[in-house]
Amino acid sequence: MTDSEKKVRVRFAPSPTGYLHIGGLRTALYNYLFARKNGGVFALRIEDTDRARYVEGAVESLIKSLEWAGLQWDEGVYEKSKVESQKLKVTESVNYSGIVEVGDFGPYVQSERLELYKKYAEQLVADGKAYYCFCEPKRLEEMRETQIAEKKAPMYDRYCLANLSADQINEKLKESCPVTIRLKVPRDEEIEFDDMVRGKIKFSTNTIDDQVLLKSDGFPTYHLANVIDDHLMEITQVIRGDEWLPSTPKHILLYRAFGWEIPQYAHLPLLLNLDRSKLSKRQGDVAVEDYLAKGYLKEAILNFVAMLGWNPGEGSVQEIFGVEELIEKFELTKVHKAGAVFDLKKLDWINGQYIKKLPDEELIKNALPFFEQKEFYKTWSMAHGAWSNVEKEDYLKKVLTVEKERLAKFADVGEENKFFFQDISYEKEALRWKTNSDDETIASLKTAQNVLGEIAENDWVLAKIEEKLLAAAGDKRGDLLWPLRMALTGAQKSPSPFECAWVLGKVEALKRVSDAIKKI
Ligand code: GLU
Repeated sequence: MTDSEKKVRVRFAPSPTGYLHIGGLRTALYNYLFARKNGGVFALRIEDTDRARYVEGAVESLIKSLEWAGLQWDEGVYEKSKVESQKLKVTESVNYSGIVEVGDFGPYVQSERLELYKKYAEQLVADGKAYYCFCEPKRLEEMRETQIAEKKAPMYDRYCLANLSADQINEKLKESCPVTIRLKVPRDEEIEFDDMVRGKIKFSTNTIDDQVLLKSDGFPTYHLANVIDDHLMEITQVIRGDEWLPSTPKHILLYRAFGWEIPQYAHLPLLLNLDRSKLSKRQGDVAVEDYLAKGYLKEAILNFVAMLGWNPGEGSVQEIFGVEELIEKFELTKVHKAGAVFDLKKLDWINGQYIKKLPDEELIKNALPFFEQKEFYKTWSMAHGAWSNVEKEDYLKKVLTVEKERLAKFADVGEENKFFFQDISYEKEALRWKTNSDDETIASLKTAQNVLGEIAENDWVLAKIEEKLLAAAGDKRGDLLWPLRMALTGAQKSPSPFECAWVLGKVEALKRVSDAIKKI
């Protein structure tokens, strides 16, 4: 079968070391887009052989985050409650309760495949491509220190390969001495591969250590398990973060040792902070769930993440892409080599674009949980205990209609416009437009009072309020509108007085205007 006829099969293979990192989401997304675009399969595999880094609950949380993102995968691990057992071939995960595995290439959890890794590692030993190593940690440490002191790159010195006879090895194995299996890396060879993003990459085998494949606790290393699984799961493209690029030569050597076909590689650019250092927790949030908690929309996060290192081509200025459009336009060959700067301002802007487009019902559904966490809202809600939930929601909808043009994320709701929820206070002087006198200010406020007073309560709509006030102001807009806006909000910056009056409602708006008149 030629490469072009082969069915595309890609995978996202996270290690359960915590939350889903924003970079992990990008890797998953690119795999998903590539699979969908090419009519391929997208699998989710759990790489949990590094027990020291395992975090309880991480598998479940990774699955939840990917589900939330809507990156529907076709094979691998799933939450049991989400899978209709009668329809598919479903196996319960042995190591994780509540998790099931679906697909013909399982298990999809590496800790459930230990026998397999052992078998393949021993096969390499039998073929002379790998060897047993009984060196104790103390010896390895001393060797390393000497090499470093001599300014040499630390590498295993092949003591066990050079010094142990077959009988000695068998003896040690029989005595169950702690043992690892190491790859016998061929010397003096040049190896080259073509990365779909990075282009041609060359390396000399002399820079590669005889890496451990199977550890003394019987667990494989990442390299061994990753290669065996990608081969057995018939993965055609390995799409992963740049941090795995240094491992790729080791993987290629393993494919060669096994005599297996090497998949195509695509290493995605590093994510950088604004100062171009590697994106780190210290400089901001890196977990996908942190962004959810701040009220970024899924569509906006996916849109933003898709553009971390990709755009549809030279000269394209388009920045808003829905998932369907991304599937259509995405190409690995257009992924950038250079690191991608993680610019929160860009995320805010993209999120703002999506917020603006939300229908009222969606807007309130997203915003309500955030309002409910705010002290100013809790106090307001209590003070309006006589209002029904529907009345409260209607009020919030108005606030949101006014705010949505400027809202970057739902965590910010109401923050800039607390005067919709609180009594206001301001200095009398703030009511004055330019050099107007007190009398002129009072006159303006009285005009506003009359205009607003004449609008019937059932006619209290934004367009009407605006029309009437503008007509009354004529060409002296500042004189009328400045004191009114200040009377309604007490704030230096706020939405227009029309919008504020509309949200506050006739009764409250008139009360605030008459309070202002009394102040002067
Ligand atoms: N388990 C690795 C990780 O946590 C996966 C690397 C790969 O995709 O090959 O990112």
